Amino acid sequence: MATETERFARTARYHDRLERTQDELARQGIDLLVVGPSADLLYLIGYDAHLSERMSLLLLPRQGDPSYVVPTLEAPLLADLQDLVDIHPWEETQAPADLVARVAGSLAGKTVAIADQLWSVFLLRLQDAVPGARWVPGSPVIRPLRMIKDGREIELMRDVARRTDDAWEEFVSRPIGGMTERQAMDRLAALTHGRDLGPAFGICASGPHSASPHHHTGDRVIEAGDAVVFDWGATLEGYYSDVTRTVHVGPPSREFARVYEVVLSANQAALDAVRPGVPCEDIDLAARSLIEAEGYGAHFIHRLGHGLGLDVHEDPYLVTGNAMPLESGMVFSDEPGIYLKGRFGVRIEDAVLSTDTGGERLNEATRELTIVS
Ligand code: ZN
Ligand code: ZN
Ligand code: ZN
Repeated sequence: MATETERFARTARYHDRLERTQDELARQGIDLLVVGPSADLLYLIGYDAHLSERMSLLLLPRQGDPSYVVPTLEAPLLADLQDLVDIHPWEETQAPADLVARVAGSLAGKTVAIADQLWSVFLLRLQDAVPGARWVPGSPVIRPLRMIKDGREIELMRDVARRTDDAWEEFVSRPIGGMTERQAMDRLAALTHGRDLGPAFGICASGPHSASPHHHTGDRVIEAGDAVVFDWGATLEGYYSDVTRTVHVGPPSREFARVYEVVLSANQAALDAVRPGVPCEDIDLAARSLIEAEGYGAHFIHRLGHGLGLDVHEDPYLVTGNAMPLESGMVFSDEPGIYLKGRFGVRIEDAVLSTDTGGERLNEATRELTIVS
């Protein structure tokens, strides 16, 4: 049970986020922001809404109080949010888009920002119900806030990363040869989830599968001579960890050891390049140019990394073409990889916090080449 003080702090936190979002709406000349069940909603009011065919929306006007349009059967879940939003329940036989139109007032000629993650069917219904509005994407409004983590968010992200690393140390202390990819992933996921985290997600890619960065974990049996990539994470109060480690079953070939060394150096080079003001794409380039110089440029087939927070992939993206300057408080992945088709792949991924003085790794699970049996 939350104490009175905790409830007060919680309301103050979301009230502040809503106000700062309203400042952003004013700055960008937007009249209303519409947010459905998503990480944006979790960020703005702390409500982990059920995603379904029933319309459930936060309406945040540029000025005045925010409203929440919710199916009556889910209204009890919003009891804690009464100090934050005006709650407008709709009955099963009502058209919720009409209720939105009534609550929002006339929007003819106005600009409405719609959060990125909303089912298209809801947008289509809203567009019918509030004619004459101009619709724009919501990410430019919410991105500047969500990208910069505050002290509490950073503590949660440190904590979730640390517990995930801990699960790894326990996982690699036992053999994995003879297990299927799925069995190995299930064990790692259970160890991670067992550290008081939300359900774990992940990829286990063994042998030639390790050369496919987003391999679908399957029934291949892990055997001696395999490279095995584990890419996984879990959540703490909605905040994600996302880490990748590559191990070798039995003694590795000279080429595997060399590729591993190159990826590890690229991971370090990217970390060393992190500083406020440096464009996102330069962090990618720091890792990429090192891998290119070693002759593996054609085998690093994805961007260096992605922002991490309430979504496992969010802004900022560390990719060529993204000139956005890094700022203190951003958290993102540093995950270079080299993939030799049909043979093996290596990826090493850490979450990195951008601070005033440089990059700080949130993951400290061993990065040394680990040989398992
Ligand atoms: Zn990925
Ligand atoms: Zn990952
Ligand atoms: Zn990642």
